[in-house]
Amino acid sequence: MKDIQIAGCGPSALACATMLAKDRIEAHVHERAPILAPRFTDSFQVLENWTEETPFPQQLKAAGIAADFFCQPVHKFLAYDEKMRCFECKSKQPYWFLIRRGREQDSLDSALLQSAQHYGAKVHFSSTLAYENAGIIAGGPSGADGVAMETSFDADLAEKTCAVLLGNKIAPRAGYAYLLSDGKRATLGTAITDDFSNLVSYHTKAMGLFAQEFSLHIPENPQTKANYVNFFLPKTAQQNNRLYIGEAAGFQDLSLGIGLRYSIQSGMLAAQSILQGQNFDLMWKKEFSQKFKIAAGLRIALESSGNSGISHFLSGASKSDLREYLSSLYRPSMLKNSLASIAMRVRRNKNCNHGERCEWCLKR
Ligand SMILES: Cc1cc2nc3c(=O)[nH]c(=O)nc-3n(C[C@H](O)[C@H](O)[C@H](O)COP(=O)(O)OP(=O)(O)OC[C@H]3O[C@@H](n4cnc5c(N)ncnc54)[C@H](O)[C@@H]3O)c2cc1C
Repeated sequence: MKDIQIAGCGPSALACATMLAKDRIEAHVHERAPILAPRFTDSFQVLENWTEETPFPQQLKAAGIAADFFCQPVHKFLAYDEKMRCFECKSKQPYWFLIRRGREQDSLDSALLQSAQHYGAKVHFSSTLAYENAGIIAGGPSGADGVAMETSFDADLAEKTCAVLLGNKIAPRAGYAYLLSDGKRATLGTAITDDFSNLVSYHTKAMGLFAQEFSLHIPENPQTKANYVNFFLPKTAQQNNRLYIGEAAGFQDLSLGIGLRYSIQSGMLAAQSILQGQNFDLMWKKEFSQKFKIAAGLRIALESSGNSGISHFLSGASKSDLREYLSSLYRPSMLKNSLASIAMRVRRNKNCNHGERCEWCLKR
């Protein structure tokens, strides 16, 4: 088999390249930036652990994709509504894993890079690959359906802390602000899907609320980055004999805007489809489609529920085991299928401009 050129060097590309290289396919990964993970600067993110039984870090280790990286199970979660009422949620099994993004040695990105290179994949930095010359497209989001701002700094918290602020004045249209910390370092983020021009003021306000609630000392001029994310329901991830993976394909949880797990899994599936001559669309649809549709329905429910609906949702979460509660939300049901159909119709009237690979755009 001839060599494979991959445009982009995020988690999806590196997972794909690792799987190909393990099977002795020459994989070339191109990153237009001179550095790894240019979108992220030593910030915390999370790997969700409620949509599947086997914890994802375990799956990665088994596949030899990224064995050794900072990865802490989290069992406690503090959720605040707009009135700063706190709902403490707990779970027996971790509901997610705290991980690091960026170029630090123990980040997920560094671990993925190391695995890919270990198996012989060639990674080229400062190398922009035109999409027409790529076999696999892994270039990340191509448009802004949501925007996020993150600030990371050294912290002095008594313990590992994960907290979220919800409410339309904090982050409109089912956005949220969050604090992720291992105790020694913290990331404060704000993600919104409306009123983009006011991102800085939403973020400043959320940082103030977190600083007060957790007695955080935020240094002057901390590391801050703004980013955008794609939300769309992909109809296909193949075009002109090219495979799309990760966020470039639209693989993202629509309710929360978390895409890491889908990115890595889609990279693995794309490699498998090449190695085994299987149809990539059939493979990812079997794994992801139902979950995407449920998440789209949940997003519409959250967007339309208002602040009292959000408080009700948080109260429900705090009275149950959080992981169980979240898992149950992702289990298929008639109600969720109906919500998904409504989500499809509601979104199609908005500015869906993702092009012909998007199911929403085609339905307009
Ligand atoms: C602020 C923020 C917080 C997030 N938090 C979470 C979280 O907690 N949990 C979670 O699961 N997800 C989270 N996400 C989403 C997650 O980061 C993405 O889903 C994931 O990084 C997507 O990986 P990817 O491989 O598709 O692309 P990316 O990570 O976007 O990487 C794509 C790379 O391709 C490069 N590139 C683009 N075009 C070309 C080209 N033509 N040639 C060469 N290189 C190119 C880009 O420079 C980029 O480095 C977050 C996103 C943001 C913005």
